[in-house]
Amino acid sequence: MAGLEDLYREIILDHYRSPRNKGELETPPAHRTEGFNPLCGDEIVVYVDTDDDGNVNDIKIGGQGCSISQSSASMMSAAVKGKSVEEARQITSAFKRLMSIHETSVGGDGSEAEADDLEIDPDIKLGDLEALQGVVKFPTRIKCATLAWNTLNQAFDEIDEA
Ligand code: ZN
Repeated sequence: MAGLEDLYREIILDHYRSPRNKGELETPPAHRTEGFNPLCGDEIVVYVDTDDDGNVNDIKIGGQGCSISQSSASMMSAAVKGKSVEEARQITSAFKRLMSIHETSVGGDGSEAEADDLEIDPDIKLGDLEALQGVVKFPTRIKCATLAWNTLNQAFDEIDEA
């Protein structure tokens, strides 16, 4: 598998240097949610615009932080834009599972990662997001990678409650 880590590094750097969907949306109608990772100082601001049919019409990302947090946010925005909220939540769960399974194996107790309560469609493809799986070798950076996703989930929860 020579070159795979180089490819992954290239994908992460590409999203860091040329972040997708960078910017702001007008609120309302869009919803704004902030996330913060105090361990690293990463900030993510998610602007998400959902329609009455439960689709992610538009998403914009603001904030600043390390390359892992910012590239993960960029990849997330590209992955969920135009999808239904339901699909976006599934992609989020699949990504967090990718991170948590490895987190468990890093722990070395041999137990399987705790199952997410959301059933994940086996057809969900993570694509570029798999480039971030190398992060799990550095457990302190996992929170950098999952920050944008936790912030997106929080935004969906807030929209549901509104
Ligand atoms: Zn970070």
